[in-house]
Amino acid sequence: MENTDTGSPIKKFECTCCGECCKNFGIGGFLPLWEWEAEDYEKLASERGISLRIEPEGIIHDRKSGLFFCLKYGMRNQPCPFLQENKCSIYERRSLACRAFPVAMTPYFSRQVNKTNFMECPVVDSEQFLHAIGASKEFSIKIEAKKTDSAFRERFGDSYDCCSHNEMLTNVMPSILQSLIQAKKIEPEPSHRLHNKRIPVYSFYNFLVRIGACSAEGKIDAINKFKDHELFLKMINAPENSDSST
Ligand code: SF4
Ligand code: SF4
Repeated sequence: MENTDTGSPIKKFECTCCGECCKNFGIGGFLPLWEWEAEDYEKLASERGISLRIEPEGIIHDRKSGLFFCLKYGMRNQPCPFLQENKCSIYERRSLACRAFPVAMTPYFSRQVNKTNFMECPVVDSEQFLHAIGASKEFSIKIEAKKTDSAFRERFGDSYDCCSHNEMLTNVMPSILQSLIQAKKIEPEPSHRLHNKRIPVYSFYNFLVRIGACSAEGKIDAINKFKDHELFLKMINAPENSDSST
């Protein structure tokens, strides 16, 4: 990551508050939300008399239990109903995806993610950005949170760390699923579940509770840890985890 300070440096990001990223969520057409964020958004919307369209994304059918569950949710209202007078009216409680923007949805800073999967920010030159981090049109690059260098933090501030936080969460659920598959506790298969909307789709942690893989208290503990951004920052900045050699 040395090349971020040489060659063509990425300019320090300064949001112009144009609001474009809150009006159009790009080709996917939804704002990705973790289950606790979806619950929070529903609560905030209900308090404000706003109607939200939040749907499960990435539905999985567990052949063993017969239950359906999802890893994430998507808010499909565009523009975002929390955008008021071009400002986020829930700024302190906005989702991790909102906080990670405009870096990307994940630290896989691929052209595809930046160009098609999410709304582009007019302030960020994604071509220059990809070049500076060593990625190209053909290849994406994964930047690990532990290898985050100060140049990125200086340029993107907390957006970069939120991006890494989001990525960490994105990796957690498949690894839990993998261990449950190995223990023969679940037999997952992808599902669109379009045929019968009356069948419930459980959130990931409610599914774990339903199949007895997690207690109700364990679910709350895990979620509280996952959503704690300060805890995440402490974890990646802990001396034993730091790796400044790259
Ligand atoms: S699109 Fe970029 S400049 Fe506009 S509000 Fe979003 S982050 Fe800020
Ligand atoms: S929650 Fe706030 S930051 Fe996120 S899309 Fe809506 S208005 Fe924008």
